Amino acid sequence: MNHPFDKNIAQVLFTKEQLQKRIAELGQQISQDYGQEEIVVICVLKGAVPFCADLVRHITCPMAIDFMAASTYGGTSASSGVVRFQKDIEEDVYGRHVLFVEDIIDSGLTLRYLTDHIRLRHPKSLKICCLMDKAVKRKTDLHPDYVGFDLGDHFIVGYGFDYEESYRNMDYIGVLKPEAITS
Ligand code: 5GP
Repeated sequence: MNHPFDKNIAQVLFTKEQLQKRIAELGQQISQDYGQEEIVVICVLKGAVPFCADLVRHITCPMAIDFMAASTYGGTSASSGVVRFQKDIEEDVYGRHVLFVEDIIDSGLTLRYLTDHIRLRHPKSLKICCLMDKAVKRKTDLHPDYVGFDLGDHFIVGYGFDYEESYRNMDYIGVLKPEAITS
């Protein structure tokens, strides 16, 4: 650990090495599955940025990269269930393979909302890759095709995951000390 925020971390759940090893495995699996077919990677802002940047460098098929954003109202750690659309992609995905890259699937409501938008544009296929899966919290029938790690009911920070917009630039993932949670 070497980040000014390290003092706020109660427990490290995934080290930099664990994350990078698993991401390399995911990239190899995705490369095998698509072969030399072109894909459109949709990185879901903002949390998936570090993960997506590392993942795409382990994928060997041709690709375009685009970005999409939505948020749940309130912006608290508990998903409110109301999704607000914030940013659409620029690529035309009609007849193309789409791979969503998301940081975490919790209730699944955010990604359900975004994938429903993209399905209306008739991609050739649509798959989901998430770094973390909180399957116990799911409120939709969303099933990721590629999962980095299964997570219990923890609120995590680091490596893209924020608490009030901080901690995204840590290279590992942990849970906050209670005294670091101010609201
Ligand atoms: P869902 O719509 O699946 O309930 O929520 C997904 C979004 O909630 C994620 O993209 C992420 O922004 C946020 N989220 C869910 N669990 C966590 C967590 O443990 N830590 C952080 N920082 N954000 C989370």
